[in-house]
Amino acid sequence: MPAFDDGLAETEIPAGATVETDVLIVGSGPAGGAAALSLAALGVPNIMITKYRWTANTPRAHITNQRAMEIFRDFGIEDQVLADATGHALVGDTVFCTSIAGEEIGRILTWGTSPAREADYQQASPCLICDIPQTYLEPILVKNATARGTQTRFSTEYLSHDQDASGVTTTVRDRLTGQVYHIRSKYLIGADGARSLVAEHIGLPFEGQMDIAGSMNITFKADISRYVAARPSVLYWVIQPGSNVGGIGAGLVRMIRPWNEWLIVWGYDIAQPPPEVSADKAAEIVRNLVGVPDLEVEVTGTSLWGNNEYFATRLQRQRVFCAGDAVHRHPPSNGLGSNTSVQDSYNLAWKLAAVLRGQAGPDLLETYSAERAPVARQIVTRANKSSREFVQFFEVLGLLDAETEEEMRAQIEERKANNPRGRAKREALVAAMELKNYEFNAHGVELGQFYQSSAVVGDGSQRPAPARDPELYYQASTVPGSHLPHAWVGDALSKVSTLDLAPYGTFTLITGIAGEPWAAAAATVSADLGVPVKTVIIGPGRAVTDIYYDWARLREVGEDGVLLVRPDKFIGWRSMSLPADPARALGDALAALLSR
Ligand SMILES: Cc1cc2nc3c(=O)[nH]c(=O)nc-3n(C[C@H](O)[C@H](O)[C@H](O)COP(=O)(O)OP(=O)(O)OC[C@H]3O[C@@H](n4cnc5c(N)ncnc54)[C@H](O)[C@@H]3O)c2cc1C
Repeated sequence: MPAFDDGLAETEIPAGATVETDVLIVGSGPAGGAAALSLAALGVPNIMITKYRWTANTPRAHITNQRAMEIFRDFGIEDQVLADATGHALVGDTVFCTSIAGEEIGRILTWGTSPAREADYQQASPCLICDIPQTYLEPILVKNATARGTQTRFSTEYLSHDQDASGVTTTVRDRLTGQVYHIRSKYLIGADGARSLVAEHIGLPFEGQMDIAGSMNITFKADISRYVAARPSVLYWVIQPGSNVGGIGAGLVRMIRPWNEWLIVWGYDIAQPPPEVSADKAAEIVRNLVGVPDLEVEVTGTSLWGNNEYFATRLQRQRVFCAGDAVHRHPPSNGLGSNTSVQDSYNLAWKLAAVLRGQAGPDLLETYSAERAPVARQIVTRANKSSREFVQFFEVLGLLDAETEEEMRAQIEERKANNPRGRAKREALVAAMELKNYEFNAHGVELGQFYQSSAVVGDGSQRPAPARDPELYYQASTVPGSHLPHAWVGDALSKVSTLDLAPYGTFTLITGIAGEPWAAAAATVSADLGVPVKTVIIGPGRAVTDIYYDWARLREVGEDGVLLVRPDKFIGWRSMSLPADPARALGDALAALLSR
């Protein structure tokens, strides 16, 4: 896709001046970086500002799910992400223990690494979950967005904005010089995180509560490969009596780089003053959780953050939109925050591009809230439920009743006893471990978004009832509003995903050999509406073959039917068979979808 030149590349901005662009993005985190990259990929002039001199300084997000990876694949940066990531095979042996070198209470294969679940994950997507810390992901997004045309301004702070019928004037401060200037844009995206000023300034309606629990991060370097070599994982949950920080005494030791760079997350009572943690104290906590009293450790940082249960029920006001943590704020459980932030922007950017180019009516933009606000609600609810469900784990171990360290130790020890209490505890532990699948293998939550909005033109069919638990299992479908199912297709020389057939820069029609007249219909509609519509015919002897016959099982429509795939890979409309006038059917559907 073309880069563009908005003429700003070498300019100095005088104080009080007004700079112009199509879209201004506030924030360069996963939401802002993905918005900039998506817009730049579509050739939409955009400026991305961020308050600090560089990207994230703490490695918060790391679990990167299949939908986010598919987006990176679409933009041709999947390899760059994988090059900096810990791969799928090493991310999954999540451990519960009394310390990393100490006793193990149990393990669960997570993020689709269990043989029982791996097939679900592999069948659903061309990409697998990997682990890339936010400190590594953000530079990749920012670099690629900037290389493709985004004007990125670090150390630039959003102060306020005013919007009118034709655009938004935003006041920003250059934090190096103190200069205040204005950026005039047609649209503004607030991707400014969980303390979003933009969301506050447009008065978005929220439900829930901020700061329901406190967490402390300690980052450190220590080579602990020998304790994790047999069970490589990114998450080690430590249930440790005797620790003098934090309520119940559970901490998380999380891998940043295998296996010598780590992050500890420790809960504290947010009603109390935040714990004071000196470097020595932090090193002591590290040694306790790792369980090696003389461990050589370099503490690299500590920070505090709040857990929230807070989501916006509307994500925009006229020309101003919010994405990412600005509109969904929740604990890291289920690893959904950054992933959802990237997907918000991917949903919004193609709509902005279509409206800016005059290909869609402005009402298309309303579908951003209609489609993404339910996702915000869903993930905030799920992450908080998962976080609370840890209590069940402590309960079955008997830790909630224990008053002293000795009692806690005895309760954990009791699971080994050959007596009725020991047996009951072992049985209860099986159930508690099973429950954690809703946090660590919630494939349906990760992939199963379904959109209902005017950018989805229904065909009268209902979304199929889930055959299995919809939170744990993703169920592919082509009912409009579903994500395009993945199948491997191609020919003897190349194997591609069906997702690769539908790139971000266009609408795509997917049909079979009996549906060849759809190609002419697409050309007609494309010319009439001025909207690119590409046709892919899947079948033997055509450019794309259904090599495993999987697509025939997944497509649900007849061989002469069609799927209209939106740029963001959601099915915008489908026809079960070839109608008498395919151009008319397609034209009507596309015009409705685009609010024309
Ligand atoms: C310990 C931890 C672990 C996590 N693990 C995962 C995980 O495994 N997977 C996952 O998907 N998510 C995870 N998350 C969540 C993830 O970090 C967030 O959801 C994600 O960072 C949200 O991205 P964002 O771009 O919306 O906001 P942020 O990353 O918070 O970015 C906000 C941006 O806005 C900028 N900004 C703010 N105010 C202004 C202003 N006034 N002017 C200019 N710029 C401004 C900031 O500089 C920053 O660039 C985790 C979070 C934590 C705390």
